[in-house]
Amino acid sequence: MKTIVETRSPLSVFDQMESEVRSYCRSFPVVFTKASGHTVWDRQGKAYIDFFAGAGALNYGHNSPAIKKKLIEYLQNDGITHSLDMATEAKEALLTQFHEIILKPRGLSYKVMFPGPTGTNSVEAALKLARKATGREMIMSFTNGFHGMTLGSLAATGNRMKRNGAGVPLSHVIALPFDNYMGKDIKTTDYIERLLEDDGSGVPLPAAMILETVQGEGGIHVASASWLKQIEAICQKHDILLIVDDVQAGCGRTGPFFSFEEAGITPDIVCLSKSIGGFGLPFSLTLLRPELDIWLPGEHNGTFRGNNLGFIAAAEALQYWKDHGFSEAVKEKGDLVQGHLSQLVQTYPDLSGEVRGKGLMQGIAIGVDGLAEKICSQAFERGLIMETSGPKSEVMKVMPPLTITKEALRKGLNILEESVNDCLERDFLNRRDGK
Ligand code: PMP
Repeated sequence: MKTIVETRSPLSVFDQMESEVRSYCRSFPVVFTKASGHTVWDRQGKAYIDFFAGAGALNYGHNSPAIKKKLIEYLQNDGITHSLDMATEAKEALLTQFHEIILKPRGLSYKVMFPGPTGTNSVEAALKLARKATGREMIMSFTNGFHGMTLGSLAATGNRMKRNGAGVPLSHVIALPFDNYMGKDIKTTDYIERLLEDDGSGVPLPAAMILETVQGEGGIHVASASWLKQIEAICQKHDILLIVDDVQAGCGRTGPFFSFEEAGITPDIVCLSKSIGGFGLPFSLTLLRPELDIWLPGEHNGTFRGNNLGFIAAAEALQYWKDHGFSEAVKEKGDLVQGHLSQLVQTYPDLSGEVRGKGLMQGIAIGVDGLAEKICSQAFERGLIMETSGPKSEVMKVMPPLTITKEALRKGLNILEESVNDCLERDFLNRRDGK
């Protein structure tokens, strides 16, 4: 690959023209040009291992050859690309594959709704439907939950900085304590149950509870299977709908296709996006129990609900799920990550680190303010793309494409360790020198 020497700030066009709202390009300040599998290249030809995977939109890697082939064939044959919610062959094939490969083997009978291209579109549709179906206004969300930036989803999102961007009161949502929010010894489900049972609690009966089984943006907090089961039982007892937002943790990120499978729960509504589009293409789904399908025709619509390239890519991506092999491989790689991260935390007690997560959605929560960001920035210099999560950006997040090789995984984890070492050494020298 040819090497170009930058003569001005690499991001000058973006700095001048693009809104201040941009964020990831500040953490990864280069211009990217090319990507394949788990590798991304910048304009200088420098290669990076991708531990970010488009925030979970690239579970099958960049430019997955099998998916790319299908897309190229489809385009070359002048296949329909845009169709609102008209019936197309691409959509028919996707629905059929989704039923055969995902729903049927799991004994799930969800109706499939196409709510619009993004994760927050799926969440908005879920919240709207829950309110319509129950006739209740209130939604219960959870501390450190993240559900998107449009007003309905934002109202259910915990992050204060993001909420402050709303400009209007974010209402009709009550935040409840997630699993372990009050420490390991306090069962937050007892508190939730009490709120619902006590006529004096001041809390109205909600339409739904919405949760992530592993909180992606909120700091990789994992809900235990027993907590999820208790939440499901509470919902059933009080006739509250359970919405699982599987936008980030779904599509195999934690091992199984749906993140809630291992807990043995069946949500009433499921939100899917990010990697359902297979190739990083905008596409999302809202799955609903058939009895909840009370929409009037056209009551919830939108121009970009028929991204047929997304359907083509998704149908091909689903082929990974024809047997258990892919899921098993994710779990194996997840164990490898867990081993490395646990070792890292032990080797460097100065991190005050805690390993969190599941499958290929893991991270280390760092107990020193600002250090996680410094380490990720150092890792980027060394050729590893990694983001932080959590309300104080305190969690270093390991989220590579699920297709990454073990060799590349180890290489990335070694870069992470070198970066930790380097930052702690610098920190030590700075403190010693009184800087
Ligand atoms: N829900 C979850 C769990 C997410 O992680 C995200 C995105 N990070 C969203 C919803 C919103 O998705 P989008 O950015 O596509 O609107």
